[in-house]
Amino acid sequence: MDSLVPMDNEVHRGFETLAIHAGQEPDPATGAVVPPIYQVSTYKQDGIGGLRGGYEYSRSANPTRTALEVCLAEIEAGARGLAFASGLAAEDALIRTVCRPGDHVIIPNDAYGGTYRLFAKVAEPWGVTFDPAPLGDVAAVRAVMRPETKLVWAETPTNPLLALADIAALAGVAHDAGALLAVDNTFASPYLQRPLDLGADVVVHSTTKYMGGHSDVIGGALVVADAELGERLAFHQNAMGAVAGPFDAWLTLRGIRTLGVRMDRHCANAEKVAAMLTRHDAVRQVLYPGLPDHPGHEIAAKQMRGFGGMVSFRMESEEAAVRVCERTKLFTLGESLGGVESLIEHPGRMTHASAAGSPLEVPPDLVRLSVGIEDADDLLRDLELALG
Ligand SMILES: *Cc1c(COP(=O)(O)O)cnc(C)c1O
Repeated sequence: MDSLVPMDNEVHRGFETLAIHAGQEPDPATGAVVPPIYQVSTYKQDGIGGLRGGYEYSRSANPTRTALEVCLAEIEAGARGLAFASGLAAEDALIRTVCRPGDHVIIPNDAYGGTYRLFAKVAEPWGVTFDPAPLGDVAAVRAVMRPETKLVWAETPTNPLLALADIAALAGVAHDAGALLAVDNTFASPYLQRPLDLGADVVVHSTTKYMGGHSDVIGGALVVADAELGERLAFHQNAMGAVAGPFDAWLTLRGIRTLGVRMDRHCANAEKVAAMLTRHDAVRQVLYPGLPDHPGHEIAAKQMRGFGGMVSFRMESEEAAVRVCERTKLFTLGESLGGVESLIEHPGRMTHASAAGSPLEVPPDLVRLSVGIEDADDLLRDLELALG
């Protein structure tokens, strides 16, 4: 993947440069080299409507949030970025902007549990129907498309099974039917994968994960290729009001500055963990897109710069899976992912418990790792001891 994006007429800038500088010029008033936390709700007007910096009320816009939104747009190579209070708030704003009651959406048959719940318990009662489909199978997606399908919702790699979808192929299927393609890019981050470059219309993020990167803030984002859709989303962001606060925006932006170096280490450590698990007798199957026998390996190699920091594996039984989760010392038992510290969890009983009994139910013998950036040998030893 070529990470060069034009920022102005003269200079082309690579990913890490954009992550550190886009939207983050030194503060014109003080010279502060990082954007300050503008912890403020309203702004003095010089006569009615006389706005000094274009700001009137912080639900509509706030300078710290603007800095984050400009940076998000640049690192995802989009026309407009919008920052929300959480990943699910961003998803809700997208659904209500592009869908109306009577419309239809296609979601991954192993979507993030909260996304499934949002469609099943909030969007469907509002009148938007949906079908889960295996997004790695383009023909299966085409088969469930309907005239009312407005949106194909992809996640790649998926949570927690790490299935891959071919973004360029899905964009073709969606666009042939007059629908939009949205890609939840939370697992890859724009450092590893840029869906808009591959033909997607909208990128969705839980910035809580790799973008923030330090397990200290909840946030969400949308980035769109088309400025007009960006305007409509910005209208809903203000009208519905689930915006990122100034301190949350500042923390997220601070995380993004180191996204590139963090992702390199997440990928390197995850590759070592996946290799060790593959050799271990107690492990039945390892799910990691970097493994050559992973069904999505070729697509991952084509559309990602690295294979990511998430590794899932199946044990011989549910009891064995639960035991590993409760025995690691360095891998902390907890939900969420994408922070510098390693986490372990049992999706069936934790993150994906809400999918029990649905088509999205996950195998009970599954363990999910968010491999952090600690010393790799320490991580391997911790897992080996827990596996017994
Ligand atoms: C966590 C997560 C979300 C939801 O984001 P929140 O910030 O928790 O609201 C959406 N998609 C994926 C893939 C996630 O991992």
